[in-house]
Parts: sequence; C-alpha cells; structure tokens
Amino acid sequence: MPFEDLLEENKPLAPLTTLGVGGSARWFLEATREEQVAMAAAWAREKDIRLLFLGGGSNLVVSDAGFDGLVVHVALRGIDVAPVVPGSRHMTFRVGAGEDWDGFVQMAVDRDCAGVECLAGIPGTVGGTPVQNVGAYGQEVSSTIAHIRAFDLATHTWEELASYDCRFSYRRSRFNTAHRGRYVIARVDFRLTPGGAPTLSYGDLQREFAPGSPPTLAEVAATVRRIRQAKGMLLVEGDPDCRSAGSFFKNPVVTEESADQIAEIGGDKLPRYPAGEPGKVKIPAAWLIDRAGFKKGYTRGAAGISTRHPLALINRGGATARDILSLAGEIKSAVRSRFTVSLEMEPVLVGLERI
Ligand SMILES: Cc1cc2nc3c(=O)[nH]c(=O)nc-3n(C[C@H](O)[C@H](O)[C@H](O)COP(=O)(O)OP(=O)(O)OC[C@H]3O[C@@H](n4cnc5c(N)ncnc54)[C@H](O)[C@@H]3O)c2cc1C
Repeated sequence: MPFEDLLEENKPLAPLTTLGVGGSARWFLEATREEQVAMAAAWAREKDIRLLFLGGGSNLVVSDAGFDGLVVHVALRGIDVAPVVPGSRHMTFRVGAGEDWDGFVQMAVDRDCAGVECLAGIPGTVGGTPVQNVGAYGQEVSSTIAHIRAFDLATHTWEELASYDCRFSYRRSRFNTAHRGRYVIARVDFRLTPGGAPTLSYGDLQREFAPGSPPTLAEVAATVRRIRQAKGMLLVEGDPDCRSAGSFFKNPVVTEESADQIAEIGGDKLPRYPAGEPGKVKIPAAWLIDRAGFKKGYTRGAAGISTRHPLALINRGGATARDILSLAGEIKSAVRSRFTVSLEMEPVLVGLERI
C-alpha cells in the first residue's frame, strides 16, 4: 500500500489531548510498526513537511490553528519481560512506546517489581515518560530506565541510547532540551527490582501508612492513585478538574537566599525540597501562584484553575489554546511581580510561542 494511503487528512487534535484544545493536523498517521516511523520520516523529509510525534497528548497545548504538518501517533505496542540474569537484582521490561504508562505500572507492581510504584496514575504513554523525565511522589522515571530505542530524525537511523545518554534531570532530558523533536522513542527498557521495597520518601505517602508495617507495592500504587484523584490529577471520565495538561508550571529551583526572601514576601512558611544542586532548593510553584492571588477554582471565561490543584489549568468547556495561554500569562506576570520569580511552563506547546 502506498504510504499516502495510510494518512488521514485534517484530523482534529483536541480530542487526542487531555486539555482538549487546538485545531487539526494537516496529515495524521497511526504508527503501529517501527517501519512506519521510518517511512513517515522519509516522506516528511522528501516533501519538506514538519513532523510531530504524539503519545497520549497529556502534556500538550496545541495551537488553535492546528499543526500544518504530519502528526504521527506513536502506537507501537508490546511488553517483553527478560528473565533475571543470575547474580543480578534486576528484571528488565522492554516496553513499546505506545503502551499505556499506568497499565505498565500496574503490571510491574502485580509482578512485585519495585521502581515505578509512585508514578502510578500519570496519564500518557510509556514513550512520553522519558521526554520530561516524569516524576511524582518521590520517584523519577529516569532512575529505572536502562536503554531507549529511538529513531534519529537527523541521521535517519535507529539508535540504542543508554540512560546516561539521555541527560536526565528534573523534568528534563535531551528530548526536551538540546534535541527537542529529534528522536522518536519506539521502546523503553526499564530495570526494576523484584521484591524491592516501595519508595516512601514523600510526606503525603508516609502519612498514609503506619510505621513498622510496610505496604506492598500494589498498595502504594493504589494509594498514589487515590491521592492523585483527590487532587484532580488522575484522569477520571466526567471529572472537570482533570481536563488539563497536568501541572502547568515547573517548581522553580532558587538559591536558599532567594527562598528566604520569597518566604518573607509571602508572609508564610515556604516548603523547600532538595534541588540536587548545592545551595539551591526547589520550591512549590503552587505556593507562589496561591500567594500571588490565584486560588483554586479561579475562572477566566472558559479557562480556569482546577478546584483541587492550583497548578492545573483547566479547559472548563469550549476553551481555546489562546484562553489557556492568556490565563497562564496572567498568572506568570503576577508571580513575577510579587516574588521576582519567572515560572517556567511544563507542557509542550505545539505551534505556539512560549510565554
Ligand atoms: C492529570 C494529569 C496529571 C499529570 N501528572 C504528572 C505528574 O505527576 N508528573 C509528571 O511528570 N507529569 C505529569 N503529567 C504530564 C504528562 O502526563 C506526562 O508528561 C506524560 O509522560 C506525557 O506523555 P504522553 O504520552 O501523553 O505525551 P504527549 O503529551 O503526547 O507528548 C508530550 C511530548 O513528548 C513527545 N513525545 C510523546 N511520545 C513520544 C515518542 N514516542 N517519541 C518522541 N517524542 C514523544 C511529544 O512530541 C511532546 O513533545 C500529568 C498530566 C495530566 C493531564
């Protein structure tokens, strides 16, 4: 079948994202096989057309004008579990990029393999997780990634990237910084620990379990999903608070000295977390937003702030990308003028300028 026959034209993108805003893709391909990724890359290069690779659409704001190029939905499936190598503490799961992330987490905990239990309930695909090095409740996906199989759009070759090649840090990797848009992730290999203890470093989780009786991995994953649901951070059909792209801003990393000044301006205790850099701390963007006057449930036309989480901007029904970004801009300038902190947006913008 000629490649063009696999393509759909003028495909609406809003229903393929969790925020539900934006226009259509000029061309669209559902890629279920690796060869189709390579074919799409060759076709786009020959025709000089822009490419966008889409997973679960849970970290995207698509412009109202849509995407004048080829959007490839990465739907490569399959999970292989490699037997434990004698003498190793780890088990390797080779997971197709198009697999549902939370489904994979559940499979891992069902097999009593530790490493991703606190990342339960994060929407999207397995292939989307390395892009911003997803993290929650004391874990980051980078600490379990062994290798990534990816198609390099610069050289048109397949590559195996080791974890250290991905340059992971807080909400960053080479895939969303220096090499944004260059690699198509086809498979992620995770190294998990059979029989390992769950990670309980996060206060919200520690409070849930009595000291001295350690929970199972499955209990931790279920608890994380419950906490997330209470905050509107779990995708639940019909819940208006989860029509979002998750946290809209990253938690800023500032010096200890700036944190003291910010606490003084806010007139309240400022939570601080290790930033992994000497003399610096990570502070909650939610705290800054709240103290800048934007409370949970704030509305501005069809856009608003979740009633359960100040960091989630929501589409209240019929919002445009412009509505969402103007609310984000309003919040950003209020935080900057009150605390002189410049918030950085977390979601990926498609066809839009960063604010
Ligand atoms: C309710 C809610 C809660 C959330 N909670 C969290 C959280 O706790 N922690 C957190 O870190 N994030 C969170 N997120 C954000 C989001 O779920 C994650 O970033 C997720 O990993 C994105 O995956 P995706 O498949 O949906 O990617 P998409 O949104 O489809 O794409 C995001 C970016 O990744 C790229 N991409 C996707 N797949 C591939 C691929 N196979 N190859 C190359 N590039 C690709 C896209 O081009 C785009 O640049 C949340 C989002 C929502 C809506």
